[in-house]
Amino acid sequence: MMEIEKEMEVEGSHIIAKQRTKTTEKVLDYDYKRCAGCSICIAICPKKALQEGPLQEIAKGLDAPPVLIDLDACVFCGMCANFCPLKAFKMTVEEKPEMSVIEETAAKAASA
Ligand code: SF4
Ligand code: SF4
Repeated sequence: MMEIEKEMEVEGSHIIAKQRTKTTEKVLDYDYKRCAGCSICIAICPKKALQEGPLQEIAKGLDAPPVLIDLDACVFCGMCANFCPLKAFKMTVEEKPEMSVIEETAAKAASA
């Protein structure tokens, strides 16, 4: 089974979730200052990994994210990033270089 590591960190208003496998690193960056709390992402997340934060308190001035992320449930599909109208969620996917070398070697072997 492929090993999957996940972690989450906070940088200013950004909540950054990462998923690493042997071949890729996916980064889901949620900038809660851009988020209007419209709940579209909560509705479309296929894993129910998102839920509303304390919206009433935020409306009264509390500095907190309108959307909370359950890192265990998230599968880094990128749907929230694709559908967020304000681009509060962004997803980046990086292929790891080691894999490119392996793929290159495999391709060379296949064409030899
Ligand atoms: S879709 Fe975007 S703006 Fe709407 S709640 Fe989700 S992150 Fe916030
Ligand atoms: S990346 Fe996919 S699974 Fe994770 S919170 Fe967004 S929509 Fe849900």
